[in-house]
Amino acid sequence: MGAYKRILLAVDLTEETSRVADRAVAIARCFDAELLIVNVIEPLSLAYGGDIPMDLSSVQEQIHDQAKSHLAEFGASIGVPPERQFLIFGRPEAEIHRVADEQNTDVIVVGSHGRHGLALLLGSTANGVLHGARQDVLAVRVGVEED
Ligand code: AMP
Repeated sequence: MGAYKRILLAVDLTEETSRVADRAVAIARCFDAELLIVNVIEPLSLAYGGDIPMDLSSVQEQIHDQAKSHLAEFGASIGVPPERQFLIFGRPEAEIHRVADEQNTDVIVVGSHGRHGLALLLGSTANGVLHGARQDVLAVRVGVEED
């Protein structure tokens, strides 16, 4: 166990993302490590099941295109090249674990909570990533007042 070599930053592309990213970038610099980023798009069918009696594929495509350009823009802003940017469909926790394993990363960085978090509680994705990860997990505290 020594320095981190490959760091996976999980981004939900909300307003909290840049704060979490600042930490990941700083750690990557400290260890002279490579930084990778992943954003997971939850399929509408997973969220809504068969409840909506319409074809959601064009909406899903729009969401994908928007996330793709947003991720590319964000990646460029923190110096992560396209080959280290991952945009995946699925359940966030499971896909973050999969990318972390497949890409041989040694630490996963998440926000303590993002969209679904309540102040002072670990959000559901952060919690899910922590449990079952084979790597270290750093939950960067966001969304609460600075001490
Ligand atoms: P949450 O637990 O959903 O409040 O989110 C906490 C953190 O998990 C966020 O700050 C991100 O680091 C990560 N996260 C949440 N949703 C996603 C997603 N769809 N793709 C990648 N990372 C995510």
